Amino acid sequence: MNQRMYALGSKRSVIREIFEFGKKRAQEIGAENVYDFSLGNPSVAPPQIVEDTLCELLKTENSTALHGYTSAQGDAGVRAAIANYIEKTHGVEANADFLYMTCGAAASLTITLSALCEEGDEVITFAPYFTEYKVFTETAGAKLIPLASDPDTFQIDFRLLEKAFTNKTRAVLVNSPNNPSGVVYNEETIKRLAAVLTEMSAKYGKTIYLITDEPYRELVYGGVKVPYLTKYYKHTVVCYSYSKSLSLPGDRIGYIFVNPTADQAKELYLAVCGAGRALGYVCAPSLFQKMIGRCQGVVSDVSVYEKNRDLLVGALRSYGYHCVQPDGAFYLFVKSLEPDAAAFCEQAKKYDLLLVPGDDFGCKGYVRIAYCVSHEMIKRALPSFEKLAQEYKN
Ligand code: PLP
Repeated sequence: MNQRMYALGSKRSVIREIFEFGKKRAQEIGAENVYDFSLGNPSVAPPQIVEDTLCELLKTENSTALHGYTSAQGDAGVRAAIANYIEKTHGVEANADFLYMTCGAAASLTITLSALCEEGDEVITFAPYFTEYKVFTETAGAKLIPLASDPDTFQIDFRLLEKAFTNKTRAVLVNSPNNPSGVVYNEETIKRLAAVLTEMSAKYGKTIYLITDEPYRELVYGGVKVPYLTKYYKHTVVCYSYSKSLSLPGDRIGYIFVNPTADQAKELYLAVCGAGRALGYVCAPSLFQKMIGRCQGVVSDVSVYEKNRDLLVGALRSYGYHCVQPDGAFYLFVKSLEPDAAAFCEQAKKYDLLLVPGDDFGCKGYVRIAYCVSHEMIKRALPSFEKLAQEYKN
């Protein structure tokens, strides 16, 4: 068998391990006494209109067509609806012929990386980063080059970035709002990033692409804006997912959008189709594609997450924890109270707090708290966070 795949399959992710522990512990002491902050599973129900649209499709559409294959790249009408929405909402050029429907952001990323990279290419990203980036990049034959971010803000450290390019650099991969830090890149950061990419493309005599992983685009708080990247750097590929914005992670639906004005956009789109074919990611779930075509602009109630963020950030800071202010997504990346984050998470378990060590996100000395949980659970968990901090103070 393939030894790399065997190794990937036999090692359960740390997050899954903690989640399983939580289920076991819930049987012992009752679910209400376990404070599981491990998984990024939305706690807000999908908007009613999503379920109504699904019911309507099931009632009114011809069922053979509804459940049948669409084109490999997705239903043309759905792709047109998405292109139209992108144009209207972000004021950029979009086109159904440059959209490819996928099974969520994971598929969008694996396809895009395989479409762009040749064996030995390098893909730069910024720590902390989504744990699967390394797996996805290596599957595409490329190497992930993670760069530390500014530790005070988790924004891009441009001095490190400028030094990281080589003649093997194929793309830079960004994720804003970020999992696990919750940080959003503002317009100034994006303009600077675009300028560096333009300069480095010229220096190395080739187009260096920007891949933007955007499952949390709509999950922002306090009026924070997430710049639309094709507006700032034309050689951009958007990897989008409805997993979080519509609370549909189990239904596996998203898309890839190749900016039509990018260098070799047509060829790149064909490479996306080819990678989708090679990886078996053709024809994303038909029923969900069709629902998406009718629900453009719909978003789950993110005010619930904002309320959770405010409660948790305020309380944890008052107990002496440190974290960068998260403007989006539903994660807090908190400084561990001892250098070894895994040991800190073990200590937290004694208070039935299930946290994820930051090491797998490429950042030692931090833990991730996923606050996509009920507000009541956060309230119940606060005394445990306080006791844990107290233990370290003592
Ligand atoms: N990218 C990031 C940053 C994520 O946090 C996730 C899921 O949590 C994914 C990609 C994968 O998303 P999906 O479930 O849509 O495949």
